[in-house]
This record gives sequence, C-alpha cells and structure tokens, in this order.
Amino acid sequence: MSDQAPALKFSWFLGEGYQRVCLLFWVITSSAYALFILLLFYCASIGLADIRHAWLILIASVCGLGTFYAILRSGRSKDFADPSLSVQQMAFAVLILGMLYVFTPGLRGVFLVQTPVVLVFGAFTLTPRNCRLLGVFAVLVQAVATVLSIWLNAREGSTQVEIIFFISAAVVFIMATDMAGRLSAIREQLREQKKELQQALDQNALLARQDELTTLPNRRHAIEMMEYEERRTIRDKVRPSVCMIDIDHFKHVNDTHGHAAGDAVLRLLARHALLALRGPDILARWGGEEFILLMPETTLSEAARVVERLRRKLADVSVWKENPELQVTFSAGIATLAVNEAIQDTVARADVALYRAKEQGRNRTVMAD
Ligand code: GH3
Ligand code: MG
Ligand code: MG
Repeated sequence: MSDQAPALKFSWFLGEGYQRVCLLFWVITSSAYALFILLLFYCASIGLADIRHAWLILIASVCGLGTFYAILRSGRSKDFADPSLSVQQMAFAVLILGMLYVFTPGLRGVFLVQTPVVLVFGAFTLTPRNCRLLGVFAVLVQAVATVLSIWLNAREGSTQVEIIFFISAAVVFIMATDMAGRLSAIREQLREQKKELQQALDQNALLARQDELTTLPNRRHAIEMMEYEERRTIRDKVRPSVCMIDIDHFKHVNDTHGHAAGDAVLRLLARHALLALRGPDILARWGGEEFILLMPETTLSEAARVVERLRRKLADVSVWKENPELQVTFSAGIATLAVNEAIQDTVARADVALYRAKEQGRNRTVMAD
C-alpha cells in the first residue's frame, strides 16, 4: 500500500493548498457571474435589455475572470500584498454590477442588491482598511453609473429618480462597508489574541520544562527524557548512562560570598558544563546544587571519561569572576541502565555512587556497582 495522500480532484485546474482555496472561491464567484449573465441574456431575449450590452458584459466578465484565474493559477498572485486577490476581485464585481445598473434600467433592483452582498463579504477576507476603500470605490462607481444613467436614459423626471436611487444606494453601501470593516477588525483582533495566547502557551510549556535560574532542563523534563531513553533501550538495545552531580561544599560558597554569588556559580557552572559536553548529552538541574547528566548510548567507562573531562574542565575555570580564587568542584556518581532495570533504579544507583564519592573525600567520580 502506498503512503502517499490521494491526489486532489481537479488539481490540474485548481492547484493545491492555499492556491486551491483561492481558486475554489474563484469558481463560486464565476458561477454567480454565469447565473447573472444568463439572466441578462434572458432579459435581452424578452426585450428588457439590449443584447449588445449583454455581450459587452459577457466579454468584460470573461476577460476579468480569465485574468484573475491566470494570475492565481500561475502563482503570480504571491507577489501581491493579499495573494487571494480578494479586494481586486471584489472591486471588479462592483464594476460589473455598476455596468449592469446602467444597462438594465428596468431591472435595477435585481442587480443593485448584489453590491452590498459583495461589500459584506469583505468582512471575511479583507483588512478593515480595504473594506472601507472598497466601500468608497463602490460609491464612486455608483456615482458614475448614475451620471451615465441620467445621460443615457434621459426622460422627464428621471434625473430626480436617479438621484434618489443614488442616495439610497450610497447609504446602504456605506452601512454595509462599515459593518464589514467592524467585523473585519474583530476578526483581526481575534487573530492577534490567538497569536498572543499561543505565545503564552509556548512560553508556559517552556517554563514547565526549564529551570529558571540556569535555563537548563528541570527535573520534570529530565525524568521525561530518561523515560524516553528507557523506552528506546527496549526497542533499539542501546543503553544510556546517568550521572548524578553534586557541588562540593556549596553551603560554604553561600555562607562566605552570599546567596546571589551562589546563584551566579550555579549559572556559570551550567554554562561551562554545556560547553564541555558532547552533542547528545543532556544536563539538567535536579534540584538545589545537584545536576543530572543523561548520556544516551554510552557505556559506563565512556560515561566516566565524559564526566572526568567535565570535572577537569571545571577545575580550570574561575567560575566567579569577582572572586577568581573561588574554585568550584563537584562529586559525581555514574550508573548505566542495566538489563530489565527501571531508569529510576539506575538514578538511585548513581546517587549511591555519588554518596560514596562524597565519603571518599569529594571532587571525584565513582562508578556504581
Ligand atoms: P556537600 O559537599 O556535602 O554536598 O556539601 P554542600 O554544602 O554542597 O551540601 P549541603 O546539602 O549541605 O548544602 C547545599 C546548599 O546548596 C544549601 C543550599 O543553601 C544551597 N542551595 C540550594 N539551592 C540553591 C540555589 O538555588 N541557590 C543558592 N545560592 N544556593 C542553593
Ligand atoms: Mg546536595
Ligand atoms: Mg553539595
């Protein structure tokens, strides 16, 4: 069986991903055009419209829709601020509706009600600013359509009627635009809030797994990673080693230099240790002045080499700048995950080994039995 997703229908015509979403919208819009043009031809056939005007509208619509399709399908629309070309397509629809208004004086009601629908649609796709710009454009188109109507259909009393039509249309357009603009602003606000919420959640997730003082993974995260290594051992037969690290006489550092200095030592130790470790090794703060080092796919002797290198490296570092003579050492206990052993038991064995390192005089590494 193939893992590949089934090919999307009509992908040769509609493309994929976001382009497909835009082109599906284009298909829906084009269907509405087709319906109105059919209606227009019918009106022409019963003498309510001029057939030449119907052809003009048809040609203009095909040219406009064809151009939009070409830009969307070719991917050129990506160069536009809004790659869905929503504002351009809506402006074009407003223009065509304006032409219909002029050419079908007997059917004004049919086409005039469509413009506010187009304007309200802006709430879902346009920015509040573009909603308002589109509203201004619709009023301008209506003004030109009114002037043309007065000129083309000059009859007694028709000017007043045209002006009344224009005023009522302009009021409705402005109201529809205002509503669309407000809805669009709410949509933008919601999107912004969603983004902020996601950032807060990400930050929370990070804090839940990170030690604030040293920025190392915290105990909870260390346990998660150890459990992952334990599962991997069952699957891939690779064994991790763990090392418990405890700073020697840390209480003395606090007592003689202050708690803030103790904090600085913990931070610097974490930073220097990270520089000395191999890529896959994970150092976490276990609590207080204790750290745990998880070394995936590492034998006990390899682990001992890694920890010894770390111990020598830290012995070379003056961890506290203002007191260069202050030297911090640590004691360590190492254990490797045994066959059928739970990783918590490996940690407990490493802890016992650490205790022995302290007993034997500190500043040393002891391997667990
Ligand atoms: P040992 O060599 O036996 O480990 O001696 P020690 O002094 O390091 O051990 P002990 O457990 O007696 O003291 C640990 C000290 O670590 C006590 C506590 O005040 C200090 N400590 C724990 N967490 C922090 C911390 O976040 N910041 C600072 N500055 N000190 C801490
Ligand atoms: Mg301790
Ligand atoms: Mg200690």
